[in-house]
Amino acid sequence: MGRTLIINVEHNSELIQFLAKIAEENKIVIATFTAIGALKSAKIAFYNQEKHDYHSIPIETPHEMVSCIGNISIKDGKPFIHAHVVLANEAGNVKAGHLLEGIVFASEVYLTELKGLKLDRKHDEITGLSLWNRE
Ligand code: ZN
Repeated sequence: MGRTLIINVEHNSELIQFLAKIAEENKIVIATFTAIGALKSAKIAFYNQEKHDYHSIPIETPHEMVSCIGNISIKDGKPFIHAHVVLANEAGNVKAGHLLEGIVFASEVYLTELKGLKLDRKHDEITGLSLWNRE
């Protein structure tokens, strides 16, 4: 196991970009993380398995970030953030999916670096996704 980071995400920052910057600054290549908090707006996505295409779902209003889990690995030589999220509105109804972007109201991230693994993302013909490639 590597380092453990407890991160208070900056107000108004975009969560995916913010985590990529943290990974780059700390030279993190493999990690897992969880985040909770609240987003001012977000864009989530659903992957169409036949069309090999992400269908984007905009969320324009504030939501609780009930749960966000993800990982960091390397794609094209740079840290790549893969995150899934469950968001709840004021009625407690949830929307969930692959997180494309989230504007942070407040968020706490718990990140665990994993040492001794080499994971690189490579294009996978069958799924159309960039999947882990272990060498
Ligand atoms: Zn995903």
